[in-house]
Amino acid sequence: MRLDPKTPGGPLAEKWDRHKFDSKLVNPANRRKYTVIIVGTGLAGASAASSLGELGYNVKTFCIHDSPRRAHSIAAQGGINAAKNYQNDGDSIQRLFYDTIKGGDYRAREANVFRLAQLSVNIIDQCVAQGVPFAREYGGLLDNRSFGGAQVSRTFYARGQTGQQLLLGAYQSMMRQVDKGTVQMLPNREMLDLVIVGGQARGIVCRNLITGALERHAAHAVLLCTGGYGTAYYLSTNAVNSNVTAAWRAHKRGAFFANPCYTQIHPTCIPVSGTHQSKLTLMSESLRNDGRVWVPKRGDDTRPPQQIPEEERDYYLERKYPSFGNLVPRDVASRNAKGVCDEGRGVGESGLAVYLDFTDAIKRLGRPVIEGRYGNLFDMYRKITDEDPYTLPMRIYPAIHYTMGGLWVDYNLMSNVAGLHVLGEANFSDHGANRLGASALMQGLADGYFVIPYTLANYLGGSLFPAVTTEHDAFREAENSVQARIDLMLRAKGTDTPRQLHRRLGQLLWDQVGMARSEQGLRDALTEIPRLREAFWQNLSVPGDPNNLNKNLEYAGRVADYLEFAEVLALDALHRTESCGGHFREESQTPDGEALRDDANFSYVSAWEFTGVGVKPELHKEPLNFEYVNPSQRSYK
Ligand SMILES: Cc1cc2nc3c(=O)[nH]c(=O)nc-3n(C[C@H](O)[C@H](O)[C@H](O)COP(=O)(O)OP(=O)(O)OC[C@H]3O[C@@H](n4cnc5c(N)ncnc54)[C@H](O)[C@@H]3O)c2cc1C
Repeated sequence: MRLDPKTPGGPLAEKWDRHKFDSKLVNPANRRKYTVIIVGTGLAGASAASSLGELGYNVKTFCIHDSPRRAHSIAAQGGINAAKNYQNDGDSIQRLFYDTIKGGDYRAREANVFRLAQLSVNIIDQCVAQGVPFAREYGGLLDNRSFGGAQVSRTFYARGQTGQQLLLGAYQSMMRQVDKGTVQMLPNREMLDLVIVGGQARGIVCRNLITGALERHAAHAVLLCTGGYGTAYYLSTNAVNSNVTAAWRAHKRGAFFANPCYTQIHPTCIPVSGTHQSKLTLMSESLRNDGRVWVPKRGDDTRPPQQIPEEERDYYLERKYPSFGNLVPRDVASRNAKGVCDEGRGVGESGLAVYLDFTDAIKRLGRPVIEGRYGNLFDMYRKITDEDPYTLPMRIYPAIHYTMGGLWVDYNLMSNVAGLHVLGEANFSDHGANRLGASALMQGLADGYFVIPYTLANYLGGSLFPAVTTEHDAFREAENSVQARIDLMLRAKGTDTPRQLHRRLGQLLWDQVGMARSEQGLRDALTEIPRLREAFWQNLSVPGDPNNLNKNLEYAGRVADYLEFAEVLALDALHRTESCGGHFREESQTPDGEALRDDANFSYVSAWEFTGVGVKPELHKEPLNFEYVNPSQRSYK
């Protein structure tokens, strides 16, 4: 099967405008006749719901939380990129496009990324109009700070709570539509299956997480906005409720999973402190604007950081990458942190940490300025570690953070299943093999506010929809299969909690499919995952009632999906024998240890087709063509 990305023709800068003009429209009076299901109401889903509701479609939203405000998006700290060039420092749409393509290690589609850069400027206007309180400079203009992989300051922020403020903006816009009656909000619902009729996505089956009842919902199109799958690794910076379930179940119904091995490891997280933890805490990348990363020059130097003189410290990022210094992209910073710890120069009890030091910035700018920029992050750090980062350097270490892979989508954000659109972190679209900081919020909001209103109309206006109700056989079959899986979990009478089983999978993935991957390690993982899956079904214990709120049952379902999904993640990593971005194959590195791509053999998107649990999925390749940038060895030196 040939994967058609449906990239419009014409010059890069004109593609999106042309495409919008060529797209079909839906007459305002007809829009309410179309029902659109939106699964997930984080930034991507809430922005899509508010835009589509405003246009007059009949929208139904679903989320697993009791309120959309609890979506993982609320946790985003550092900021959102836009090519406004308020700083007059040389930014432009072209530069944001270029930085993002290069940052993604030349594994993203040019046309998508250019559109993202174009729309970035609209997002800021939209959010300001909603009242999002972005930080401002003394003159009143919006302030910017720098993020990794860019030499301009283009990141808009609201202290260290940017995601929260953006989500409140999107949420209030959505609630306005709830009030107007165009959006119906169904919280506490978990989508557990996709219903396809005549090749079109026509609905979902979900479980009411309060009553346990299974529900069927029919529509003309389904939008999945269900976030990323970083929690497959158990410990990550993601909210613990983030999961792959909706995407995986859609995959099992035919939607291709693209680039699952592209997982992002964030360099600045509070290090693991023991087995009691269920998640890790991010210290935003914005801290690298002012914090300096270092380790002692000598591995046996156990003195407290304040007693280590300047000349005995190794500011290794500044030393190795003088142009970008502490603001190299995340994959580069993470690998280097691992490198110095592997050399035995890591700090803290475990030796798995490096310092992020604000002493110089506080001397230069004064404590009130640093407090104003990062106060809430410093408070968070102090509460968790009981150390004061104003006087002692933070200790940080890389952790799983974001997933660039996701369901395959074309330029219209539609998967290979007609009518199934995928937005935000759940799709694979714009970041290639590595996401630059502050660009996930940009992508999620571009998808929801500015792309889907056009591309969904194009789909709805150009398709025929036979009448389908929830009594259709496809709904019955989907509900039966969901019920059968729930029954199977309840019948297992083992002794292990879903959390224990999840932790085992997470440790395996972190060890073998984490920051550095080797052929042998990946083969071992592929042998071990089916064993863990078997152990899951034999040893699982799900106490409690299925007809009630049952967190163990919810969790068990998500772990079961991860145990299937993990295999395609590892397989994707095994087949891609090159290194690129967040996917580092030990066998493929430059003489100085950087990721070595193999453009001749791997300049494509890998899109996997489900063929059965434990059966090797089929690989489809979407070639990547670069007309405007020349893929080269990435250098931040
Ligand atoms: C700690 C942290 C800080 C970050 N900071 C930044 C930052 O500063 N800048 C930046 O650009 N990016 C940042 N990111 C990344 C960014 O926050 C996410 O990529 C983005 O918020 C994802 O938004 P989303 O709408 O795609 O998904 P989410 O916000 O994860 O929303 C998913 C939605 O899907 C629902 N859902 C999930 N499964 C189901 C199901 N089966 N059925 C029904 N509903 C379901 C959930 O209830 C939720 O509503 C950060 C990430 C982390 C972990």
